[in-house]
Amino acid sequence: MRLTIIGSGDAFGSGGRFNTCFHLAALGKSVLIDCGASTHVALRVRKIDPNTIDAIVLSHLHGDHFGGIPFFFIEYLYQKPRHRPLHIAGPLGTEEKVCELFGLMYSHGSAARRIPPTRFHLLQPEGSAIVEGINVFSFRVPHQVQEISLALKVSCDGKQILFSGDSTWTDRFLDHARGADLFLCECSFYDAGTGNHLNYLQLREYLPRLQCKQLVLTHLGEEMLARRKEIAETVAEDGMVVEI
Ligand SMILES: [Zn+2]
Ligand SMILES: [Zn+2]
Repeated sequence: MRLTIIGSGDAFGSGGRFNTCFHLAALGKSVLIDCGASTHVALRVRKIDPNTIDAIVLSHLHGDHFGGIPFFFIEYLYQKPRHRPLHIAGPLGTEEKVCELFGLMYSHGSAARRIPPTRFHLLQPEGSAIVEGINVFSFRVPHQVQEISLALKVSCDGKQILFSGDSTWTDRFLDHARGADLFLCECSFYDAGTGNHLNYLQLREYLPRLQCKQLVLTHLGEEMLARRKEIAETVAEDGMVVEI
């Protein structure tokens, strides 16, 4: 598996970084893990053709994680007509919100336009889904109160990637990081926090018990970027490639 970090920024584009998106190449497939609003442009920066994407797996339905999807739809409808389906997997409400967002952005005030061929997969917390041959296990994390936010554990070829999604700390990260080849952990703040994101000082308490093979911090806000010299762990960069 080869993972390219397409976007390691927060919702505010801190440090000029793109919104959350990771490109996974595995089993001959191209899969995006999250698809923030800036993803379509960010893929072009990395010379990845948006038409090669087979599937998009979503942790939750905030704009900096799923808001990029309508740009794929217009490309598939008007620039490079596409007949094979795009697979989109996400928590409850994904199909409705993706279609509603596309309708708002490109309906020209009337009924929502048709979408290109798309197959939606529901990710149920504590369940697994197979998306284009890749196993996606998800569990709920503390980020939103009513809507569902998921952490994603993506497995194929005997390798595992754990992605926290957006979340404050939960001990479930300890359980699921054990044996993972890579843990992509959000770390929006250094020591500030809003209660629904993780900060570095909080995370640091748990580092001795975290048994993943590689840890990469992502979803970085201004405070993290300003203090990155004080951080010993690997901090994501847009364009960084991780071989797994
Ligand atoms: Zn969020
Ligand atoms: Zn976010």
